[in-house]
Amino acid sequence: MKAILVIADGLGGRPSDGPNGSCLQAAATPTLDALASRGALGLLDPIGPGIRPGSDTAHLSILGYNPSSVYTGRGAFECLGIGMDVACGDVCFRANFATVEPWDDALPVVTDRRAGRIETGQAELAAALHAVALKAAPDVRFEFAPSTEHRGALILRGPGLSRHVSENDPHVEASADDTEENREAARLQRSRPLHDDEAARRTATIVNEIARRSYEAWREHPVNLDREAHGKHPANVLLLRGASELPKLEPIGETYGVRGAVIAGGALYRGVALAAGMTSLSCPGATGGLDTDLTAKATAAIDALEDHGLIFVHIKGTDNAGHDGDGEAKRRFIERIDAEFFARLIARIDLEEVHLAFTGDHTTPIRFGDHAPDPVPVMFVGPNVMPDGCTRFDERAAGAGGLGRFSGQVLPMLLGYCDRSPKFGS
Ligand code: ZN
Ligand code: ZN
Repeated sequence: MKAILVIADGLGGRPSDGPNGSCLQAAATPTLDALASRGALGLLDPIGPGIRPGSDTAHLSILGYNPSSVYTGRGAFECLGIGMDVACGDVCFRANFATVEPWDDALPVVTDRRAGRIETGQAELAAALHAVALKAAPDVRFEFAPSTEHRGALILRGPGLSRHVSENDPHVEASADDTEENREAARLQRSRPLHDDEAARRTATIVNEIARRSYEAWREHPVNLDREAHGKHPANVLLLRGASELPKLEPIGETYGVRGAVIAGGALYRGVALAAGMTSLSCPGATGGLDTDLTAKATAAIDALEDHGLIFVHIKGTDNAGHDGDGEAKRRFIERIDAEFFARLIARIDLEEVHLAFTGDHTTPIRFGDHAPDPVPVMFVGPNVMPDGCTRFDERAAGAGGLGRFSGQVLPMLLGYCDRSPKFGS
């Protein structure tokens, strides 16, 4: 028996989302309602009651891992998700091309954390950085890979490294005529050791050297001279954050004896699934945004069922609209998930043969505009699921659902319905 897990990022909402309640309540979702009528609903605390989830930790918990013990930070997932090979002992970072003012003695002010959302020339800049040898640690190699626009990831590889270092990203920007206070806050940060040991001190020194070397390699790079000639912000420094190592996760294939595949536009979600032992399937048109091709994702999931027992589909747009505080966009996107993803999916799969779970990794309420600790509706459908009488899929219906309220563990429950759970005890 096969399983499909669908997570719409930030799916949950609050009554204050709009005049008709939460975006899920306001949306017309005939397909999800039909699925609810043959399945069972509940409320999911992605990590635990009152815990405000990050997307990475929430996904770990939903997949059946305990993020409190396995989570080491976001960087390794980003590296895996953009196709880098991550080995044990590597220290991984999320990276941004950014713009700084001239860097003399003092650390420079960051004027654009996204370097004008740079769209071309990233590979040339990366090549120029790779030509640099690290003076502080000749035995350490680094690999920087740009992904989309200003984003990328960086791996440090060598002896005596530590993930316990602070980031150099100030997380705020300032212009030349900003207040002195704002300009001070927007200075590039010096990475510091967060543990009192030689590995953390050495790693912080390396992070600081890479930042300086990126500036030296890029400030007069032809890509940037051309950008400045066209009035664009130069990509003249590398911001590094989210230092982490590869988490030690028991592969899903070993625990449940099932081949898993992920279909996701966002690198983070591919990275989490890869770390859990799934393979990543390409899906042209999956963008990780509100413009994603949901029909293509449904088709990719249907095709992947041929030779995988578990398909995990991640849909990001709901969270983007929540962060933007745009309730109308979130409602419309939920309606698209219903009409373009689920309608196509259930027309092509046999719900007597496949178990389906649908939930979010957290709520992203419209007025709050960020992840909230509230529980999220969750639904299971399939031949072994006892229908609970719900006829609608939203927060309120889920609160009255037969599964009650529980924390994480959605994938173990889904694979349990598929008779794949290992027995605990004798
Ligand atoms: Zn999320
Ligand atoms: Zn989010």
